[in-house]
Amino acid sequence: MNFAKDIRSNRIAMLSFCLICQSFQAEGIVRNYSAVVSPVVQLLMERNVNIIQMPCPESLFGGLENGLAREPRSYKKYDTQRFREHCKTIADQTLQTARTLVHHGFEIATVLGVEFSPSCAVSYQYEGRTVHRKGIYFELLEQLFETEGITTKFIGVNRSGTKTAVRQLCELLDPQLSLGLG
Ligand code: SF4
Repeated sequence: MNFAKDIRSNRIAMLSFCLICQSFQAEGIVRNYSAVVSPVVQLLMERNVNIIQMPCPESLFGGLENGLAREPRSYKKYDTQRFREHCKTIADQTLQTARTLVHHGFEIATVLGVEFSPSCAVSYQYEGRTVHRKGIYFELLEQLFETEGITTKFIGVNRSGTKTAVRQLCELLDPQLSLGLG
């Protein structure tokens, strides 16, 4: 079929669910943004990047009815076979979406996670001190993307300081501007 050309962007960012819905976070830990983590979302909007919200592994675990109002849990508490299988199911679905998008000519420019999340961290956990460790869902997702040959940039957003993620996003989306050349 021949469709008329239009103005749509072919760039996509896949976001951890709570980056545009902080109310899905565990109880008592929403302290920086009450709803949308605005600096990163604002940047994506300004650069005409489509936003896909990935499912939230923790709030869906055991069903949304239970998961929505949940206490914060550590990485160790989440690191069970059952939770890993749950994350694998979601990661498989996300991979399927990404695969289809790439097939249709879209670019998965970035996948944004949430630092210090047992599920969605890209680099860091807090275990009495900051340790270098991915979240369980993101670990599986990165492996699947790599195996599939889908290249993208995984960026972790620290909600108590978004500057690093914003800078990384600028470098990714506007390399010339971020070098001061554009
Ligand atoms: S599991 Fe991921 S998407 Fe869900 S609240 Fe935690 S960081 Fe956000």
